[in-house]
Amino acid sequence: MEIVVSGIRPTGNLHLGNYFGAVKSFIQMQDEYKCFFFIADWHSLTTHPHPENIRRSVKTILTEYLACGIDPEKATIYVQSDVREVVELYLYLNMNAYLGELERVTSFKEKVRKQPDNVNAGLLTYPTLMAADILIHKAVKVPVGKDQEQNMEMARKFARRFNTIYNVDYFVEPASFHLSERAVKVPGLDGSGKMGKSEGNAIYLMDDEKTIRKKVMKAVTDSGPTEPDSAKPEPIQNLFTLMEIVSEPSTYDYFNAQYNACSIRYGDMKKQLAEDINAFCAPIRERIMDISANDSYLEKVAAIGAEKARESAARTLKEVRNIIGFK
Ligand code: AMP
Repeated sequence: MEIVVSGIRPTGNLHLGNYFGAVKSFIQMQDEYKCFFFIADWHSLTTHPHPENIRRSVKTILTEYLACGIDPEKATIYVQSDVREVVELYLYLNMNAYLGELERVTSFKEKVRKQPDNVNAGLLTYPTLMAADILIHKAVKVPVGKDQEQNMEMARKFARRFNTIYNVDYFVEPASFHLSERAVKVPGLDGSGKMGKSEGNAIYLMDDEKTIRKKVMKAVTDSGPTEPDSAKPEPIQNLFTLMEIVSEPSTYDYFNAQYNACSIRYGDMKKQLAEDINAFCAPIRERIMDISANDSYLEKVAAIGAEKARESAARTLKEVRNIIGFK
């Protein structure tokens, strides 16, 4: 079975964009691949040096991934900082990573602009830590967003370089598995653009029915089409796209026909959409509540994940140490 590794940023609650853009693909992948999903808490230290909040976010993310359907019996889900073998590989990769190439990475340059008072070595060597996360399990596929492509190229370069320096054919170059090409882009309901936490327009899987209704009823619309079969302006298209994602096809078809006949009532459509979003979220929300109240289950899942990940990591590291010459 091919090995897949993916990192998850512990940035708080999951929204519909995360679910349909990433988590859903992970759930499918766990049946087809040997998956390692890790919560990237070390990476967070590059921007957030105090881990108190990270610990809470790690719990939230672990809970919500499990509630969505990541199955710890099928996939290995673990917390990055539980697998110290990664750090040793990070060190070896850093010995053959050069300042010039690290400084040229776009995400590094962006971070330098964003936090000029904290341009730390962790930020600079983010790509080597990411390469270590991937290569420690000898992954062949990595689900990533387009913004990670440059880091993936670095990971491939470091894998190749290791093979060349030590004259081995050890690491396979990991391929990117572009989530955005496979999954839908979930729009926001504020007129334009995608749904996102930082966009402030997210509907969270944890949101209760009332909150969902409030967010959907506020969606930007217009005064309605005046010509039959007109093209939909972006805010309206976004409403329909969301409906296509969460509602029954017959519901979508009904409102689409109303739109095409210029008889659409956006209030009715939004009410239906809110109901359908709630129907989608409600079972996940219940599982989130159950799981988050069960600390011993969460600890067990994290411990089993760590053990499985460490076993895989230790195997690679033993071979890497042998290749380098630490026998
Ligand atoms: P973020 O919450 O921004 O760290 O996003 C994590 C992952 O969720 C991204 O790499 C995307 O694959 C996915 N994602 C986030 N927002 C959306 C969206 N609006 N539509 C589709 N996918 C999304």
